[in-house]
Amino acid sequence: MKSRAVIMREIWRLAAIAGGGLFIGLVLGRPGAVLAAVLGVYLFATQRNLMRLHRWLLDKKRHELPEAGGLWGEVFNEIFQLEKEANAHRDRLGAMLTRFQEAAAALPDGMVILSRENEIEWANPAAERMLGLAFPRDGGQRIGNLVRTPAFNAYLRKHDYSESVQFPSPAQPDNTLSLQIVPYGASQRLLICRDITHVMRLEEMRRNFVANASHELRSPITVLCGYLETLQSISLGDEAEIKKVLATMHGQARRMERLVSDLLMLSRLETALPSEDRTVDVPAMVASLQESAQLLSGEQRHEITLSVDPNIKLHGAEEELRSVFSNLIDNAVRYTPAGGRIDIAWRATGEGAEFAVSDTGVGIAPQHIPHLTERFYRVDVGRSRETGGTGLGLAIVKHVLQRHEARLEIESTPGAGSTFRCLFPATRLVVDTAAQPHAPS
Ligand code: ADP
Repeated sequence: MKSRAVIMREIWRLAAIAGGGLFIGLVLGRPGAVLAAVLGVYLFATQRNLMRLHRWLLDKKRHELPEAGGLWGEVFNEIFQLEKEANAHRDRLGAMLTRFQEAAAALPDGMVILSRENEIEWANPAAERMLGLAFPRDGGQRIGNLVRTPAFNAYLRKHDYSESVQFPSPAQPDNTLSLQIVPYGASQRLLICRDITHVMRLEEMRRNFVANASHELRSPITVLCGYLETLQSISLGDEAEIKKVLATMHGQARRMERLVSDLLMLSRLETALPSEDRTVDVPAMVASLQESAQLLSGEQRHEITLSVDPNIKLHGAEEELRSVFSNLIDNAVRYTPAGGRIDIAWRATGEGAEFAVSDTGVGIAPQHIPHLTERFYRVDVGRSRETGGTGLGLAIVKHVLQRHEARLEIESTPGAGSTFRCLFPATRLVVDTAAQPHAPS
């Protein structure tokens, strides 16, 4: 309706101009000439507006959209509105594209957009890092020419992308990548790659763990079977021999029991929710563990001292903490020759509190220290087994400390002794100001 009114107005305007021109022409006695002149001026104005519009369309940046009255004014106004909407639409699309690119760039997984001919159209920084690409430098290049790993090229050629392919990263050969191509749109492909080194290591650890645990259990079972056969051939009267065999069998059964209970403890620590924390009376716990250590030392008569701050208790899981402290104390006894010294301490530090066990034992060479908390890692397998070790004690210690936001520090000098420290944060401490400090015993 609006456009009709505008056109009608313009027709009236033209009629008025022509009528006016005719009237003046009649007055002047030259109606034809004056009418032609008036219409010429109208035509000129129309042509001029058309040229201004054309000039603006050719170079919108340098020229302003012209202004005019009448029908041309309306046309310019409509064009201006359309232009404004198109700009707003373009800005919205641009912002969306920027947001999408920022999100894709921030993804930890690598993404590459490929054409039907496998030419790189876009790659995010993770893909550049993992596949050794550089975008935009490599834009337009065929990906098979840049990533030359045989497994990847065979995958590209196969054209069956329903499964992923695994191969070493061309940029970091120690890392393993899992890569899959997802076709989309009419002919494009999205390549997605992920660094699965961590998963592969976990899988290898799991395989090693199962192999080690089976091996550890098989040894005592083999010994038990051997002795059972011996028992069958021993004459019933040979009581001394029978006792000796039974004692050895008992030792092996105890070894299996310790192993299974350590395995169960580890599995509980890994799978179960953390036990409910309570206030643990560490000073009392440590005092009772010192007595047990003295019993374990037995004939070896180690000198075991205790220095405890009775004011400090700990917020944590009692049984788990007992297992940590007793593992460290037992290790000190087992790896310290007879007559050696073992100092147990529970005290405040600048950051919180520490439980420390120092011994004058065999010590550990520096290259072993980072591995001690791995399952079944032993410096001296013979000594560990002889003294009833399972190779799982320090793995349990590490897990429990992690659950208590604490950490383990190990210092050792081969032949001189070791110190194992459990460092607990201040947030875990329950400080009792009423108690009196204990002197070292
Ligand atoms: P194990 O049951 O063999 O003692 P652990 O996990 O408790 O297993 O300890 C791992 C290894 O760390 C031990 O086999 C031993 O070689 C070494 N180790 C642990 N504590 C000590 C220590 N106090 N002195 C010397 N070596 C130690």
